[in-house]
Amino acid sequence: MTSPRQHPIRLGHQLALNDGFGERWTRNLFAVFLGGRAEELGRLDRLAGDGDFGNNISAALDRARRAAAAEEAGRLQGYPAWLTCVSRGFLGTGGTSGPLFGMFFRDLARCTTSGEPTLTELSAGLSAGVATVQRYGGAEVGHKTMVDALVPAARTLESQLSAAAAPDEALGRTALAAVEGARSTASLIARRGRASYVGEVARGVLDPGAAAAAIILQAAAVAQAGGDGVDTAWIEV
Ligand code: ADP
Ligand code: MG
Repeated sequence: MTSPRQHPIRLGHQLALNDGFGERWTRNLFAVFLGGRAEELGRLDRLAGDGDFGNNISAALDRARRAAAAEEAGRLQGYPAWLTCVSRGFLGTGGTSGPLFGMFFRDLARCTTSGEPTLTELSAGLSAGVATVQRYGGAEVGHKTMVDALVPAARTLESQLSAAAAPDEALGRTALAAVEGARSTASLIARRGRASYVGEVARGVLDPGAAAAAIILQAAAVAQAGGDGVDTAWIEV
């Protein structure tokens, strides 16, 4: 009889995510945000902030897209290279969201050293990224920031590991938790960021950073499961 020690059963979360996951995630981000969503999120920031959010996220991803295009063919390979490219795009951008998303993606990029991460590694990277955002920004859930989408997402992905869910389902549920968290920001007034200066005016307006964070996680789910693009119709309601 062979012992499980010699032939360990590799559960889904211990296997690498689908080939090309990091590249597809990155390209989904370019497609969704540079294809019009950044502008819509900018409109939310004009309603309750200072209006620069759309420009900030477009500038970050445009910089990342140009850096990716400038790489010699074949050099940008594997998840860490693609996610580092996204991180650098955000780190070179202004606003509050630029550096926060930059550090968030830097932690995600570092969750594995080559190839594609396992679900366990991705979960560790997401949790580390969320912790970094909270450490630098000081926001808690309910303060009407990106943290409202990111914390439930990181918790959900972690709980999917212990439930031994298949990676596609786990990332789908993670994205759903982020979307729910982002939607919940509409009814709040802001305690952090520029939207906190406008008090009640922010109530009824979705937080653009939370919406962007949720779309980022939706883009990850689509990168793993396939499908035709990220469904962002929810940000209009
Ligand atoms: P700024 O507020 O400096 O104009 P942006 O418009 O680039 O920055 O980003 C605004 C978004 O940043 C908000 O929608 C919110 O989600 C996020 N944000 C603002 N302050 C914080 C914070 N302290 N912690 C986490 N996220 C924050
Ligand atoms: Mg702003």
